[in-house]
Amino acid sequence: MPCNESELLASKHPCYSAESQHKFARMHLPVAPACNIQCNYCNRLYDCVNESRPGVTSEILTPAQAVAKIGVVRERLDNLAVIGIAGPGDALANWEKTRATLVGIREQYPDLIPCLSTNGLLLSQYAQELIDLGVGHVTVTVNSVDPMLSQKIYAYVDAAGVRSNGPAAMQKLLDNQLAGIRLLSRQGVLIKVNIVMIPGVNEAHIPEVVQAVKAAGASLTNIMPLIPASGSAFAHLPQTSNKDVSTMREKCQVYLPQMRHCQQCRADAIGLLTQDRSAEFRELPACPSGGCSGKKSGPAIEQGKSLFRVAVTSKYEKLVDQHFGHAERFLIYETDGIRSNLLESRSAPKYCNGNGYCESEREFKQENIKKLTDCDAVVTMRIGSQAKERLLAQGILVVESCTEIREGLEMAVQHLLLQRAV
Ligand code: SF4
Ligand code: SF4
Repeated sequence: MPCNESELLASKHPCYSAESQHKFARMHLPVAPACNIQCNYCNRLYDCVNESRPGVTSEILTPAQAVAKIGVVRERLDNLAVIGIAGPGDALANWEKTRATLVGIREQYPDLIPCLSTNGLLLSQYAQELIDLGVGHVTVTVNSVDPMLSQKIYAYVDAAGVRSNGPAAMQKLLDNQLAGIRLLSRQGVLIKVNIVMIPGVNEAHIPEVVQAVKAAGASLTNIMPLIPASGSAFAHLPQTSNKDVSTMREKCQVYLPQMRHCQQCRADAIGLLTQDRSAEFRELPACPSGGCSGKKSGPAIEQGKSLFRVAVTSKYEKLVDQHFGHAERFLIYETDGIRSNLLESRSAPKYCNGNGYCESEREFKQENIKKLTDCDAVVTMRIGSQAKERLLAQGILVVESCTEIREGLEMAVQHLLLQRAV
């Protein structure tokens, strides 16, 4: 039972309270596409990696569309409690859109809890307005409290019209983050700080970050693994292991409570944290072939050298939204990247339970891989390194994507053509 105001605030938000994650749904409104810094682990083709898994792309809504969508979602989700703005860029770098959305939420849905996440560069500037707009939960990403180290993490910061990677720019980012946290927390806003644990870069420094944000008023930290995003400056770094993240959380638990249930959600996530239902509410443009829905075939594809066979893991046949090891079937497409036909839905034994167990289920993996030997590529949301290596050894290209199937197929064909050209 929550016994003070902060605990009560936390208990209503599924990210701030592990107990509430199975009770309350949240909805992210993707109204903020621009960003004002460049983190070296981010590829801006996709959602903000400070909050989302790399490779995820979300639709963009205007503030009016976003507020209207709340009504549609609410009719079907009676446990909807929290409305967040988490990108796909930085919420505060798109202040006019973010403010208009928050105003709409306050006017039309005053019982829902508004929250947002930010890199913090503009946090001190907008802190009072956030309070006035009723924002009670803010997530700030702080990866370093040492400007020299920050220079290794950020390619640049755009502050007051000047783009810089110098120590002064890094100090400005830090000052604004900490000042914003102080201002908000003093007025009762709950602050969660996300920290991306980057192997060989900021690992040893993380306890210092946790202590500094605690002193500024943060109430929770969320230490997240680096998942190297393809196309980012840190693409060559290894992914932080779950074990290392857990050890670091244990170490930092003595300073502040640790979030351990973050799902690194999409900027348009909807539903319980563990049960994203955003695909049900997304307006997708029609696939050029009419075949991407998988329901019916489109016009015949012109035969030629550029025709490929591609397997896709997808739950609802709209998005690439399944882990390779979770898929119970593969959708097999024939595609030239522009037009695509669904040829068949091929059953696949599911082998991954999401807890690392999949890595030991060799025979199931082998079985799945055998089922795909006629394919040129696999398009999947995530895949374990062993399964990926086995597919590559069979000459099957692996493309990790969280896009619409149409975009995933296009991406696969581009890679295959490139591969052919070299
Ligand atoms: Fe990418 Fe988010 Fe960093 Fe901006 S703040 S560069 S969107 S990870
Ligand atoms: Fe909560 Fe993590 Fe999802 Fe953000 S990304 S809504 S903190 S679970």
